[in-house]
Amino acid sequence: MNARAKARKWRAGVLGATGMVGQRLVKLLSEHPWFELTAVAASERSTGRCYAEAARWHLEGPVPEQARELVVKDLEPNLDCDFVFSALDSSVAGEAEEQFARAGYPVVSNSKNHRMDPDVPLLIPEVNAAHLDCIPVQQKNRGYDSGFIVTNPNCSTAGLVLVLKPLADAFGLEKLFVVTLQAVSGAGYPGVPSLDALGNVIPFIGGEEEKMEAEPKKLLGKWDGGRFIDAGMGISAHCNRVPVVDGHLECVSVRLKKRATIAEVREALRNFEVSEELATLPTAVKHPVVVLEDEDRPQPRKDANTGHGMAAVVGRVRECPLLDVKLTLLSHNLVRGAAGAALLNAELLAARGFLKSREGVGSSTVEQVSR
Ligand code: NAP
Repeated sequence: MNARAKARKWRAGVLGATGMVGQRLVKLLSEHPWFELTAVAASERSTGRCYAEAARWHLEGPVPEQARELVVKDLEPNLDCDFVFSALDSSVAGEAEEQFARAGYPVVSNSKNHRMDPDVPLLIPEVNAAHLDCIPVQQKNRGYDSGFIVTNPNCSTAGLVLVLKPLADAFGLEKLFVVTLQAVSGAGYPGVPSLDALGNVIPFIGGEEEKMEAEPKKLLGKWDGGRFIDAGMGISAHCNRVPVVDGHLECVSVRLKKRATIAEVREALRNFEVSEELATLPTAVKHPVVVLEDEDRPQPRKDANTGHGMAAVVGRVRECPLLDVKLTLLSHNLVRGAAGAALLNAELLAARGFLKSREGVGSSTVEQVSR
């Protein structure tokens, strides 16, 4: 652990703080032992107003005290913080994130814009923490000083790859077929009109299948010191929007490189445990994949908050007559797939010394928590 984490809190800003993901970040930051929220930014609709007025609060409980009176700023890269989370709409995220990185801010992004850039880590700490080695190359390529951009994957990719990782390590992956049933909160606010969503299934989510077919290859691939080398595997994804509030369910069939029994597959999933380094991060869970035995689980309403929303929940692990193994998985799209993922990424950056203090750092004492 970086010595600074023990002494002070890093001051975090949230770009897009008024949106679905931004609100989750604001809430998680209000209880965070290493980070404190000191700045919020959003669109013209919100700027100049205090956060409690500008945000249409969607979460349980009141707007956190620390955030209520913060004045919402625009996207000028002069916020009073050490680093920023970005939960911006993708129409503005690309340029704004670059401006903040150029101005010296580490940017921990949820947006799609830079995920597949050849010098930007697409990070799931439990899967590819070594990809952070790319940051100095990014800074050199782009002429950034202390700033850089790190991204987390698309919300359906996040749960999928967490489950694929132990299978890739134990048996290798040749190809997979995945069908998603995605919650409406994945579309932001106000998102899908209620008359389209209620009592219905929409078999199309713009750009989602392309992301699911590309991002896992980068995540499960390698950084060779100069470039990312994709994991060689075939992926076919079908993405559907269903009338569920939170939690993306995915039905997956996988062809493994090495033959394995169903018992061995279950064991590999169950035994997946984070490294000692990750176990010290406040948002990490020791076993990020939870395997359920009941034949009718996982279910979004019952299981999306497993592991504080940071676990991928797997059920129905069984033989697949076409490929080798099939299973159902669930992950919380706004936590594991967005705000919690970004928080974990920032914690790993802090632990590895990538977050530097900027002028006027606060002096709150940090209390380490474990889960
Ligand atoms: P959202 O609810 O629509 O929120 C979008 C945020 O961006 C709001 O704070 C909004 O501010 C701000 N914004 C929009 N236009 C802007 C502009 N021109 N200038 C400055 N700020 C602007 O969307 P979301 O679901 O939170 O998603 C945020 C990002 O995370 C997106 O890139 C999304 O693709 C990604 N993501 C979402 C999920 C999910 O499950 N929802 C999962 C993973 C990744 P105002 O409130 O002021 O309009």
